[in-house]
Amino acid sequence: MTEFNTKLVHQPAQHDNNTGAVTVPIYKATTFKYPEVCAQIKDDYSRSGNPTRRAVEEQLAALEEGDYGFCFSSGMAAIHAALAIFKKGDHLLVGNQIYGGTFRLLHEFFKRWGLTITAVDTRDLSAIEQAIQPNTKAIYFEPVTNPLLKVTSISQVSQLAHQYNLLTIVDNTFLSPYLLRPLNLGADIVIHSATKYL
Ligand SMILES: *Cc1c(COP(=O)(O)O)cnc(C)c1O
Repeated sequence: MTEFNTKLVHQPAQHDNNTGAVTVPIYKATTFKYPEVCAQIKDDYSRSGNPTRRAVEEQLAALEEGDYGFCFSSGMAAIHAALAIFKKGDHLLVGNQIYGGTFRLLHEFFKRWGLTITAVDTRDLSAIEQAIQPNTKAIYFEPVTNPLLKVTSISQVSQLAHQYNLLTIVDNTFLSPYLLRPLNLGADIVIHSATKYL
């Protein structure tokens, strides 16, 4: 059994380096060699995957106790990728206090993409319930908001969301998995900006 503070010392195991180095090397290659034509290799091109990034992704998934992790070059790129699972005509409920970059991404980009968005005070379950529409697909919020530190209960919101078949997407940047692990409380997707507390 490992406690949180030492969780990444041995797990997830990082055996895949050729030197025995005890930290994961930074692989700078863009392209990886096929030993023969059509060989099944782990990585062929670094945009789709590379050993360094995979190590970080596995470690973040372990810290958040999730099934998979995906790293992007910025928090905004991660949020963009998560919201790109929705399609034209879908409706999202979004916390009425969210990071400015996320607000602009939603209103300047995802509205043009065809999403409709309703801002709600996610601390108020009846306000959430009243804002749900037939085409609502998800609720997106920061459990502790940037910058005003308003606190929303992930377990209460995700319980309600599941009743209506909505995904719960949480930006956990302000607490980090050390203080809060949203997936264990019922969230479906957790996002971080790695420039803050992570
Ligand atoms: C900083 C921040 C982001 C954006 O992350 P970048 O890595 O700067 O793109 C997203 N959400 C929250 C809550 C943040 O504080």
